[in-house]
Amino acid sequence: MNDQVKRMAELLKGGAKMLASTCPECGTILFQVRGDIICPKCNKRIIIAKNNSETEILDGGLVLHQIELTITKKIDEIQRQLSDKNDPKELVEIATLLSIFLEVLERIKRIRGSR
Ligand SMILES: [Zn+2]
Repeated sequence: MNDQVKRMAELLKGGAKMLASTCPECGTILFQVRGDIICPKCNKRIIIAKNNSETEILDGGLVLHQIELTITKKIDEIQRQLSDKNDPKELVEIATLLSIFLEVLERIKRIRGSR
């Protein structure tokens, strides 16, 4: 598992919330830890201007599309890792990430449908 994915898993285990928004610098999915929004790749706080509610961030077809692409790419990477892992602990981590990513995709679909 690469560092970025590991970091995401750690964040989620620590109770961080995966946002439906991506880092303006690297396009990685952002996480909310308590009040802070952080990028697991740049490893720094991201300030999202003014209205940072999830709905506001999601309100834009382009952003949704970008998230969908990022997630789909991640799922593909994870899927490839999954086939050569046998360690139960790692498998659980990968499966957890997968289900989270799939949930995000599902949410995107729902948001699209509700427009
Ligand atoms: Zn970043």
